Amino acid sequence: MAKYIFVTGGVTSSLGKGIIAASLAKLLQSRGFSVTIQKFDPYINVDPGTLNPYEHGECYVTEDGAETDLDLGHYERFLSSYTSQANNVTTGRIYQTVINRERAGDFLGKTVQVVPHITDEIKRRMLQLGKEGKYDLVITEIGGTVGDIESLPFIEAVRQIQWELPDDDVVVIHLTLIPYLRAAKELKTKPTQHSVKMLSETGVHPDIIVARTEEPLGNDIKRKIALFCNVKPEAVIEAMDAPTIYEVPLAMLREKLDVITMRKLGISVYPEPNLENWKAFLDKLKYPKSKVTIGLIGKYVELQDAYKSILESFIHAGAMNEVKVQVVNVHSEFITEENVAEKLDGLDGLLVAPGFGVRGIEGKISAVKYARENGLPFFGICLGMQMAVIEFARNVLGLKEAHSTEMDVNTPEPVIDMMEEQKKIKMMGGTMRLGAYPCEIVEGSLAHKIYGKTSISERHRHRYEFNNKYLDQFEHNGMSASGTNPETGLVEIIEIPSHPYFIGVQYHPELKSSVEKPAPLFVHFIAAAKAYNEGRIAVKNPLLQSEMI
Ligand code: GLN
Repeated sequence: MAKYIFVTGGVTSSLGKGIIAASLAKLLQSRGFSVTIQKFDPYINVDPGTLNPYEHGECYVTEDGAETDLDLGHYERFLSSYTSQANNVTTGRIYQTVINRERAGDFLGKTVQVVPHITDEIKRRMLQLGKEGKYDLVITEIGGTVGDIESLPFIEAVRQIQWELPDDDVVVIHLTLIPYLRAAKELKTKPTQHSVKMLSETGVHPDIIVARTEEPLGNDIKRKIALFCNVKPEAVIEAMDAPTIYEVPLAMLREKLDVITMRKLGISVYPEPNLENWKAFLDKLKYPKSKVTIGLIGKYVELQDAYKSILESFIHAGAMNEVKVQVVNVHSEFITEENVAEKLDGLDGLLVAPGFGVRGIEGKISAVKYARENGLPFFGICLGMQMAVIEFARNVLGLKEAHSTEMDVNTPEPVIDMMEEQKKIKMMGGTMRLGAYPCEIVEGSLAHKIYGKTSISERHRHRYEFNNKYLDQFEHNGMSASGTNPETGLVEIIEIPSHPYFIGVQYHPELKSSVEKPAPLFVHFIAAAKAYNEGRIAVKNPLLQSEMI
């Protein structure tokens, strides 16, 4: 049976519960434990798939095709292991299950209530992964902030689990903020005291307090928090702001968060942590040898969380190449044929981002054209790949009205079109082509060089596809389909062999990049940008020239 670690948050949102949970998981994993992390979100949406990125940032997709919270991305990037639908549960999903059971007559005769029916369903899901026998430890992050009306049933479920299971099977970690008042030159513990009090009123007492702070806490403040919040002084963990999220596991190691957690869980025998790979990555990240500048073309660029996995993939790939990747956000809505050269001046590579809907589309197409014509390394992801196809159709094949039926249902040249099975679908949530699909790669292609093999699997999230009716026309004119789905023949990868580096993928490689296993497409794109930056533009394939890892 697994042991359970719960992480709650107090004082404010955005304190980085996900990063603290992932860091603790990393430390425990580095000591040989099998760990997973799950997130319980208090909102009513059944999953975040229908949310605009402006609401909660990107929607992260798992292998099994679940549309989940972006924190699951952090879990995978830190642990290099996969999560699934079971790792992300919302209030909406809990109620949906309970209501479906009520309609099926499962509770016949009974009044269905928040306690015990909703809380029972929450508990069932909180304990589920631990019962599979795969994990020694299950970390559960409770979304939201203690005191929110909507998180109450989750806290109540934690209380019941704490009461039901043996004392050393459950530990509760509360993450709070210790604000620094500049005028008074003082760190303030009162908000933390209040938030622990509020948590305790609901019957849950934290075993460990992790205090986010801009200034070192010092022993006096730690003792004060410990005394007023009724935890041992060593169970007050300082979490200073870090220059990168990837430093946090080491900071938590220094503060002994893992050791104190294990002590609370009655684990007394454990090996030293093996963090060699992690530290090697951090060294490369901190001491890059050069810099590349990548343009990220999207319509949500003002909101960093909208492209979280892409930005993190650049960090992993940059470290691999020992370069600093500077990402310049270019808003696709403001790119025109006239200003594109000026907007993209000085870039070493161009990434056209995923997205939905018509806004900013023509700007993306102009950006692709510029990269294609100027030999600038190009990488298109999902909608970005579709834009590369449309641009090629319009400007090379001469199909001036080529478009995606997503943007223009009546286009006479639907080079990107909706999949047949998608046309029947009326419901929005969870109905796209989602999750992992296999892809067969053409030998000798750029994709083959990048992956080093011909069979791969990557994750998807889209409704539209390359229209195979046009495939011959594209291939005869210089754009090839170098990766296809072996069962359906759907085009997964396009490239232009005569261009120094031009590749577009229908799937989302950023979803599988982790610190210890960076996504090959990002690693090679950054290598190509580095080569471009070094002035080797004329080299046909920069991959052959640059030192690859
Ligand atoms: N809107 C496009 C589609 O549905 C692309 C989706 C994406 O970029 N994730 O096919």
